[in-house]
Amino acid sequence: MASHARLDHRNPLVFDTHELGRRPGALQRLTRTIDAPRDLGIQGVIGVPEGKPVELELRLESVMEGVLVTGTARATAEGECVRCLEPLEQELEADFQEMFSYPDADDRGRVKAEPADDAEDDEDRLFLEDGLFDLEPVLRDAVVLALPMQPVCQEDCPGLCSQCGARLADDPDHHHDAVDIRWAALQGIAGSLESGDKDEMSGAEAGVDEKQEK
Ligand SMILES: [Zn+2]
Ligand SMILES: [Zn+2]
Repeated sequence: MASHARLDHRNPLVFDTHELGRRPGALQRLTRTIDAPRDLGIQGVIGVPEGKPVELELRLESVMEGVLVTGTARATAEGECVRCLEPLEQELEADFQEMFSYPDADDRGRVKAEPADDAEDDEDRLFLEDGLFDLEPVLRDAVVLALPMQPVCQEDCPGLCSQCGARLADDPDHHHDAVDIRWAALQGIAGSLESGDKDEMSGAEAGVDEKQEK
């Protein structure tokens, strides 16, 4: 746990709630454009490349036990079509909502009115540190949820030809004639029969040579 790591207000994903003054009902709206952190997205599938702009729109609301953060992240994700393997871009819009509690909220009785089984989720609770909060884990979860596990370049992408690997979207009439294949197979058999005789002969000769060498 990074419980002792201090949040750095210069980190673009760290936000300051001091302006809300811990007055329940106080609201603050803000927008910020940040550079995407590393590995923002579904690794190896689709994501926002590191350093690309991510527009954040936030609404901070002071409530009794902390600050409720509601927002939207917008960016352009890049990946690869799972069917035809072509690179693709997709506009991403990820909504999120998260509660950042005052570290001392538990001592105030009021918050403890929640169902008992919430205690198990305590580890997952996010806290304000000196009035600051780190949006990064919230942003990461929201982006992963908003992205497709199986991105496609177009809904009806026909993928690749199973026989030759051609991209079928580029060539809708692409097909291999089954008759041609059989014919080619027959020709192949005929060809190998012809050359087979020669091969056997040369093989026999080679065998003789081998024995002679020994
Ligand atoms: Zn595709
Ligand atoms: Zn093909």
